[in-house]
Amino acid sequence: DEPVIRRALISVSDKTGLIDFAKFLVARGVELLSTGGSAKALRDAGLPVIEVSDHTGFPEMLDGRVKTLHPKIHGGILGIRGNASHEAAMAAHGIAPIDLVVVNLYPFEATVAKGAPFEDCIENIDIGGPALIRAAAKNHDHVAVVVDVADYQAVRDEMTETGGATTKALRRRLAATAYARTGAYDAAISGWFAGQLGDAFPRRIAVGAELKQSLRYGENPHQAAALYVTGAVRPGVASAHQLQGKELSFNNINDTDAAFELVAEFDVPAVAIIKHANPCGVATGESMLDAYAKALSCDPVSAFGGIIALNRPLDGPTAAEIAKLFTEVVIAPEADEAARAAFAAKKNLRLLVTGGLPDPAEKAMTLRSIAGGYLLQSRDSGRVAMADLKVVTKRQPTEQELADLLFAFRVCKHVKSNAIVYAKKGVTVGIGAGQMSRVDSSRIAAWKSREAAEKAGLTQPETVGSVVASDAFFPFADGLLAAAEAGATAVIQPGGSMRDAEVIAAADQAGLAMVFTGMRHFRH
Ligand code: 5GP
Repeated sequence: DEPVIRRALISVSDKTGLIDFAKFLVARGVELLSTGGSAKALRDAGLPVIEVSDHTGFPEMLDGRVKTLHPKIHGGILGIRGNASHEAAMAAHGIAPIDLVVVNLYPFEATVAKGAPFEDCIENIDIGGPALIRAAAKNHDHVAVVVDVADYQAVRDEMTETGGATTKALRRRLAATAYARTGAYDAAISGWFAGQLGDAFPRRIAVGAELKQSLRYGENPHQAAALYVTGAVRPGVASAHQLQGKELSFNNINDTDAAFELVAEFDVPAVAIIKHANPCGVATGESMLDAYAKALSCDPVSAFGGIIALNRPLDGPTAAEIAKLFTEVVIAPEADEAARAAFAAKKNLRLLVTGGLPDPAEKAMTLRSIAGGYLLQSRDSGRVAMADLKVVTKRQPTEQELADLLFAFRVCKHVKSNAIVYAKKGVTVGIGAGQMSRVDSSRIAAWKSREAAEKAGLTQPETVGSVVASDAFFPFADGLLAAAEAGATAVIQPGGSMRDAEVIAAADQAGLAMVFTGMRHFRH
């Protein structure tokens, strides 16, 4: 005994699919009320329609700013059916119930997107439309509200099935969609307004992302999770095309994102191997194969079950080499036929292609949740270049050291703090991540390098003769001395500590060359 739809209010800016839907309604005996432009479109299609202004006895006025804001409209939507006092009031004031509200709003977002002048944007702020939508969604017990052309079909299907009614389940879903739409609409207006006023941040944020897929679980099996995408055109894991392999997990997506953003930093062929969002090997090289072999040599033990990102198309020889090790995900701008063939037998290995690389310097916002709120910040698009480096020691770094210092600092930006990265000839040779003390990160990196050297049968660890990068300043000389002990000959760090003089003196004493960047790359 769901309410049969007898009267519908139609007021739409986007008239896609309107005539078809309206014909269906008329055929089911539904009376159509409609505003100026929509009414004309219906009439032109030969459909019977009553103008809202005739229904209310009040003209559309003020250039359309006031069309449907009338008690005969809002009373007809909001009145509770079966409620004696509501029904009495409606009868006393000649208010006819409206059972279906079909509204889509003035195209505010599209008007802004096409760069329209301020006044045009203001005029495209819909007032009556959101009021209709919110009223109908509130009274979803009795009224169905459609704000999205894509939902016409669901209403048709149910009306056909039920003899002209809709189910409460559908009306509730439509109501939720309706409030999401009005919420996003107002967020778009407030965001645009904040931009007009030169505010760096909107007064209120709507993430504005759409559900892409639900995930089997979150970081752990007892957590639910889903992937949302914003539709921004930044090549990466969210927009990538998966060529093969199992479904991506929450951790896969997070780690793959970290991996791909890291390799995008380099203009030369580069490969990164990531575990738990931290790199365990990053290398530049002559080719993808060369870079992969070098990245793997940094920490082959940790690389097991890792995620590999490439900043050039994946080729056959590199894929064949990668296939020798257990890897969760490989992401690259493209993958050629030979590479695809090399992975064909690895049914579980996920291969993603993005079609391009993201711009590492792009200005964008990042969002993180905290209890009761969100933290919004501009993404770390900071990039230190040769010209930004200030040599603070007696010894000048050599050309090779300078190139490696820049490479190591760029990797450092993608390592969780406290981050220490040793590098030699465009290859990381020791990475210390996520420690609460900078000295510990320095020691762990050196220790891992010794382990790798032992396993590879080398006489000394690769940190000997390397350079070292620190994501933030050394607060004391001890972290720097640990690096010197491991054999580093040059250091890159932001500088800016109270004890800079002490740290510089220690570097001079140890014969190190040191440069300050003036920029920090914390990553928590
Ligand atoms: P039409 O093309 O039918 O003349 O206008 C349809 C548009 O008018 C819809 O986007 C609808 O949201 C909007 N609308 C309906 N009532 C009002 C109102 O009272 N004021 C304003 N500003 N817009 C309205």
